[in-house]
Amino acid sequence: MSPKSCPFCTLPKERICLETPATLTFLDGHPVTERHTLVIPRRRVESLLDVPESELPSLWAEVAKARALLIETYHSEGVNVGVNDGPAAGQPIAHAHLHVIPRRKGNAGQNLGCLDDAGLAEMRRGKAATVMKGPYKGDQISVDHIIPRALVPELDNVIANLELIPLRMNEKKNAAIGDRQRDMAKMFYQAGLLSRKGLEAVLRWCAALHGTGEITARAQAVCRKPLRSD
Ligand SMILES: [Zn+2]
Repeated sequence: MSPKSCPFCTLPKERICLETPATLTFLDGHPVTERHTLVIPRRRVESLLDVPESELPSLWAEVAKARALLIETYHSEGVNVGVNDGPAAGQPIAHAHLHVIPRRKGNAGQNLGCLDDAGLAEMRRGKAATVMKGPYKGDQISVDHIIPRALVPELDNVIANLELIPLRMNEKKNAAIGDRQRDMAKMFYQAGLLSRKGLEAVLRWCAALHGTGEITARAQAVCRKPLRSD
């Protein structure tokens, strides 16, 4: 991959949260939690273990800064700092990066302050509780369909496809469908929770959004596996 086609070498300015002469810090495009952050060396090396030793302290300092920022502005209670080294280990982009993933104890509703007395009272009245903490304070809590309901209605009540998140975040997320949705659709299909028609709808949408034939080829490979539910 040339620097021109590397998404990390060509990051739009507005995605960058912090920068130094040697590093860039930005939010992951496919977050596993809200505010999932990446720290990369500007220098394009494939493996983090190829970063010259003299440049490691500057990278680590940025990880510490990202962690401090997540604690201060997002009330993160802990972080996972991680490296996936190589495609087989889950590194899809051949430009070394460190994950800084904010974590909190308890469940999403609890962390957002929805399960206090007032929130529980709202729920007893059949209403959605109000988010009391964090950047989405004041929003109603909402149920998010990881693979959007609009795309495959059959996943409406599949528990594995649901998560609790603030309404505004949900609305923003609903416009985005990517690797996570594609991978989950394949998993649901293989588990017999999603029909072949449903899987194909997700994969076609991914292919249309990302404009690549590669996903279609992978979709066909998945669809050739024996069916369990349809
Ligand atoms: Zn790059």
